[in-house]
Amino acid sequence: MKEFKELRNSLERGGSMPSRSIAFISHPEPGQHIQPFPRPHLESFENPLRAQMAELHLRNRGLLDEMSVFEAVEADSSDVLSVHSEYVLDTAMLMTDLGSGQLGEAAYASPELLRSALLSTGGAKLAANLVTEPDYIHSFSLMRPPGHHATSSASMGLCYFNNIAIAARSIQTEVGIKRISIVDIDDHFGNGTAEIFYSDPSVQYISIHEYDYESLGLGHYYEVGQGKAKGTNINIPLVEMSQDESYNSAFERVVLPAIKSFKPEVIGVSAGFDAHYSDPVGNMNIDSKTFWWIGREVNSLVQDLKLQGSFWVLEGGYNPFSLGPCIEASLRGLAGEETPELEDQCERVINQELIDANNEIIDAVLETVEVYW
Ligand SMILES: [Zn+2]
Repeated sequence: MKEFKELRNSLERGGSMPSRSIAFISHPEPGQHIQPFPRPHLESFENPLRAQMAELHLRNRGLLDEMSVFEAVEADSSDVLSVHSEYVLDTAMLMTDLGSGQLGEAAYASPELLRSALLSTGGAKLAANLVTEPDYIHSFSLMRPPGHHATSSASMGLCYFNNIAIAARSIQTEVGIKRISIVDIDDHFGNGTAEIFYSDPSVQYISIHEYDYESLGLGHYYEVGQGKAKGTNINIPLVEMSQDESYNSAFERVVLPAIKSFKPEVIGVSAGFDAHYSDPVGNMNIDSKTFWWIGREVNSLVQDLKLQGSFWVLEGGYNPFSLGPCIEASLRGLAGEETPELEDQCERVINQELIDANNEIIDAVLETVEVYW
């Protein structure tokens, strides 16, 4: 972050942009909750090791010294109830007391579930609140379990409480932020976040995700929002094994103009890194350079549109060896630094057929959503 520091120093000496830093949120216990399965069961990849190893990587690379580091605090039940039904909270409380049980599809309880989930939500809430303050321009919450699959009425897909949705609601009600764009870069469609804001014109939800065109499910581009919120739900469903080029096109052709048209005050990023080629759960094919590029583009949006900032909330990313480098790349992009050379970056064969297929999909997405801009 040396260059960012230098940029800040030069701005302090009379530059035109404000001098604001990046906030980083974690906790000494990164959520002790563990899914009750042995490896290599799919659910077992979402475990405390992910956050521990990612934080260790960031520390070893000197990033923690360059950011303002905060400790997450538990959210409370009113935060959870701001987007979820009482059933979601009651079930999590009851099954935590029991120490086991199934809350929903791929969402299991442990004796540590409630505390871990409330800490994760609290981390997201703190991340969102910090960027509404003058000292911070971007923030990143490295907390787990993730949240974007949790709907208003159900925990599912390794997610219990929808951290980013609760965080967005909290800066609307507590700080008075009116318009928020949420960009979801996780490999998977954030069905929960989409559902929570589907009829809400004050929150724009944009998701780039892997989509199975053989068996159509939620996340298709024809889902655009409801009532006054029509046009504020934007799905970019890319084909399996999509590469960096398609993520760049999706961002340049859809995400950037959509956010410019919506004019939010704050951007939230559902920061999933399971689209990385090495991920054991996702099936995409991108590397840390793309996460750097996304960080850089989000920072440019914040600067150019004079937004209050962006807050990033960890979602997926299940290879504990590549999660840290991917987060490092994003943070360096946010800080305005050049692409870091990281060990996951290697030449990979470019599949033009997949790029062409995705270009057609992006054309169709644009045709569907551009009418609302
Ligand atoms: Zn995911």
